[in-house]
Amino acid sequence: MVKQNYSVELHGVTKSFDNTQVLKSIDMELEKGKFYTLLGPSGCGKTTILRIIAGFTKASSGQVLIDGTEVTRVAANQRKVNTVFQDYALFPHMNIFDNIAFGLSVKGVDKATIKEKVSEMLRLVRLEGFEERYIDALSGGQKQRVAIARALINEPDVLLLDEPLSALDLKLRTDMQYELRELQRRLGITFVFVTHDQEEALAMSDWIYVLNNGEIVQSGTPVDIYDEPINRYVADFIGESNIVDAKMIEDYRVEFVGHTFDCEDGGILSGEAVEVVIRPEDVEITSPEAGQLIAKVDTQLFRGVFNEVIAYDEDNNEWMIHTTKKVETGSRIGLRFGPSDIHVMRFNESEEDFD
Ligand code: ATP
Repeated sequence: MVKQNYSVELHGVTKSFDNTQVLKSIDMELEKGKFYTLLGPSGCGKTTILRIIAGFTKASSGQVLIDGTEVTRVAANQRKVNTVFQDYALFPHMNIFDNIAFGLSVKGVDKATIKEKVSEMLRLVRLEGFEERYIDALSGGQKQRVAIARALINEPDVLLLDEPLSALDLKLRTDMQYELRELQRRLGITFVFVTHDQEEALAMSDWIYVLNNGEIVQSGTPVDIYDEPINRYVADFIGESNIVDAKMIEDYRVEFVGHTFDCEDGGILSGEAVEVVIRPEDVEITSPEAGQLIAKVDTQLFRGVFNEVIAYDEDNNEWMIHTTKKVETGSRIGLRFGPSDIHVMRFNESEEDFD
């Protein structure tokens, strides 16, 4: 059998600064041409992982492979990897042409080739005609595109992007999300994108690694992670959710708030204490008679396309519901959930670390 060559592999990578361990045995296998996101709160180790892949930071232990070749001890400039930094790290005293040409100029590539390649990059990021401009005369989105062009001109196999959209306002950020994703698809390069913004991660990625305290907590497609968060930390971090204490009755039956419900989770011991997570958009509001649970509406906020309703059930659990139905504040309502909307999460030991 032919061994699959991954674009990037990390095997048992750890990192300590002084005596503090910031990465605890990270394992990742990134396929060529996919869009990966490292998602987690500030300080969880995302940038450190990127720097270890790039070769700017040395792992304390473990191996790094690029295209199937071990590079753990190979210098950054010898790796076919480029990085787009959060602040873009562009050269303000150079014009756009020279900024983009930089990587080829230092390698001593001839002028005609450089001119041709820079033009190609300017076309790619839709900045033709901007060659002579200086960095200060560009908008945030344009600077971001120059930074990407400057990284891509070196024809990397892997592009690392460290929160490249965080300096942009919301509208531009959304536009750039589409542009980056489209660019990645067109070029077929492996992207490793760092963000602490869960919506950005869900919108852009083929595969997400959710990190906390220097560990991978869960990895999967955006849909997997959104629909089947492995524990409370992931459920809380990825979107709004209702999380309620529950008990497994038998395969595909779970009990909470004194009622039993059909679900799609099995293979858990009968009687085991679990939690269920239900997304606000998966809760259906009915009349009290038709409800599986009865709740009282406490507050509501108009969110444009939906109403956000906060209600309390008979056990005083808080429910957030996204609905297009009109309800009266203070009224009694019924709540219903389909079996596929109830996601059972097991408690696990490592969860204690997630405070
Ligand atoms: P952010 O989103 O805030 O950039 P991050 O998830 O990228 O955070 P890292 O920058 O990887 O986190 O940092 C992980 C931990 O390692 C932090 O606690 C940080 O203080 C620490 N750290 C990072 N670099 C160094 C260093 N050179 N020396 C000492 N500690 C460091």
